[in-house]
Formats: sequence, structure tokens, C-alpha cells
Amino acid sequence: MTDTILLSSPDIGPLEESYLIAALRSGWVAPVGPDLDAFEREVAARVGTRSAVAVSSGTAALHLALLGLGVGPGDVVLVPTLTFVATANAVRYTRARPVFVDCDPRTGNIDVALVAELLHDLRSRGERIGAVIPVDMFGSCADYTALLPICAAAGVPVIEDAAEALGATHLGRPAGSFGRVGALSFNGNKIMTTSGGGMLVGDDLTLLDRARHLSTQAREPVPHYEHLETGYNYRLSNLLAALGRAQLIRLDGMIDRRRRLRDRYAKLFAPVPGADLVGAEDTGSNCWLTSIRVDPRRSGWTAADLAAHLAARHIETRPVWKPMHLQPAYADTESRLTGAAERLYAEGLTLPSGSALTEPQVTAVLSAIDEFLVARTGVPAA
Ligand SMILES: *Cc1c(COP(=O)(O)O)cnc(C)c1O
Repeated sequence: MTDTILLSSPDIGPLEESYLIAALRSGWVAPVGPDLDAFEREVAARVGTRSAVAVSSGTAALHLALLGLGVGPGDVVLVPTLTFVATANAVRYTRARPVFVDCDPRTGNIDVALVAELLHDLRSRGERIGAVIPVDMFGSCADYTALLPICAAAGVPVIEDAAEALGATHLGRPAGSFGRVGALSFNGNKIMTTSGGGMLVGDDLTLLDRARHLSTQAREPVPHYEHLETGYNYRLSNLLAALGRAQLIRLDGMIDRRRRLRDRYAKLFAPVPGADLVGAEDTGSNCWLTSIRVDPRRSGWTAADLAAHLAARHIETRPVWKPMHLQPAYADTESRLTGAAERLYAEGLTLPSGSALTEPQVTAVLSAIDEFLVARTGVPAA
């Protein structure tokens, strides 16, 4: 253990312990079991979809979503450049080609006007467009009101990468429910965790059944291990599903803690010139991570200055995602850029946001920031 204050660590307590022990004692340790089935039903109910398939990671969920839609070699898939690498990697696993799309400068979510432009241009070039994968950045839904009609008109399916957004809403509708299929992550740093895990959610039962089949080595339902195609070992285990069920019960409480923390950051930075919360106006966000954007011409200090000040006090911060088009692994990938993601990467800073932060830890973070702001700006922020 470290006494560093971390960005977003798992929030685990006695409820998780009791669910996990109960699953162990039930004997359902061999991979599948009743907690797995129940976890799928409960998450589907929460997201408002007909069905769900629990898998070993969010990355696996994205991979299976693409395979379920028949995306493969020769296809192009639109991916936001501002995302975690998993979104792009999943496309590559299918040997389709990602095309990166820049973001809206205020929200960090995919730039819908660019998507419309690209769909048109790729089409007229004769490309086969397999899917668009909007990401709900840091727990804030993409602009589905604008995006979905554009994709529908182009006949291109949407895979919602809701890995960061379980519990978030857009106009009252839950994250995960917007695409033909949605992908959730229960990685250790996400809004809720199964230590590692993910889920596909959606209404298309044929697609989800196919994903479930592929997630269990494409094993046919006969006793002698019959396989008609290549599958994957992607299924979530019953034990981890039990952990997930306990986390799901606590999800709203954990979101609430993150929301209250974001409100305190908002209050702290409100009087500070040149420092704004990213996506602050989205009331449907699950507030997974709170980031600020610092315009050094107006603030007189940079995001890196604040990061260094906090690091010296053992407080972890991170830049926002380094855009995919700047990643060496994705050099030479076709991209449609405005510069918005690069600017957000240069000016953004993600602050400790976890629901497991104790009140003394939160106080320590807020006063360390306050101390910095007073020294740099003379604004007594709190
Ligand atoms: C975390 C994350 C993933 C991948 O989830 P894993 O469970 O870690 O595989 C995919 N996309 C985004 C946007 C993420 O933040």
C-alpha cells in the first residue's frame, strides 16, 4: 500500500466481501453460475436493454461487438482520437482499420460534424464502413441526439463504448443503451469494478447470443467439444460476477460521492480565470473522472504546474488521454482532426475522483489545490 492519494481506486467494502464469500461457498467457482446470470440480468435492467453478456474485460466486449456486427478485414471503423487505446485496439483485432475523429473542444466527446463529413467522404471513396464507436468520455455521454440520426441515415451501426459511463444518462436515457450494442468495463479504476471484467449490452438478441457463443471458444452445445469456427476465452467468471452484483447495488451511492466531489472542485475553480471543468454542464454524467482544462494565457500557470505541485504532496493526477493519432502504435492511421484533442491533451488535468477517497483525503487534495491557487493567482479560492 502507498499513502499516495490516487485518481480512482476500487471502492470495496463488506457488501462485496459477503457476496464474494457467498459465491465461493456456493461451489459455483467453475466459470459460469447463478451470479453470472443474475449479474447480466441486473446490468441489463439498469441500462435498460433486453440482454447482456458478461465478459472478461471492456476490451473483449468491444472486440465481440465488432465481430457480432461482422466487422472484419477491409472495413473502416470510426473511433474518437481522444480515448483509451482499447477502443482502437479492438478494431485492429478484427483487422479492420480505425479512422480517428477529433473531439468537441468543450466535452471531449466525438465531434459529430466531423463524423458526418467523414461518413460522406469515406463512402464516396468506396470504403466499407463497419461501425462508428463513440466513447462516453470520462462518464459523460456523447451527443447521441445529433449522432444517432447521422449514423442511421448512413446505414452505419453504432457501438457505444460506455466503458467509463455506467450510470450516466443522456436526456434521461442510460449510457450503454444508445448503439446497436454497448460495451461496459468493470476494470479496477472504473466507476464500479469486478477487479477486471466487462459487459456487452443491447436489444439485438441474435447479436448478443453470437457474442456469448464466441466468448466461450465457440463451443457447440454438444458433449464432445465441437467447434465450427475460432472463438475466444472471454467469459466473466461467476465469482467476479458476484463481486459485480454487490458493486451494482452500491453504484448510485458511489456515483453520488463522485458527483459531490466534482461539485467541490467546481466551487474551488469557479473564481479562477483560465481553469474550467471539462464537460461541467452535463448533468447526466456519472462523474467518473473530473478534469480541468487550463488555458495558461488566462491563468498564468499550466496544468503541468499544478500536477507537479500535487505530485510533491503525493497526490496523483493524470493528463487526459493522449490522443490515438499521436500514439506510435497508431502512426500513419487516417485521422480527421481539428486540433481539439491535442489542445485538451496539452491543457487538461484529471484530478483524484474516486468514490473511495476519505474525507481527510479529499480535504488534503482541496487544500493542496487551494494553496497552489493562492500562490499562483492570489485568488483565495476556498
Ligand atoms: C477502460 C476502457 C476500456 C477498456 O476496458 P477494460 O475493461 O480495461 O478492457 C475501453 N474503452 C474505454 C474508453 C475505457 O476507458
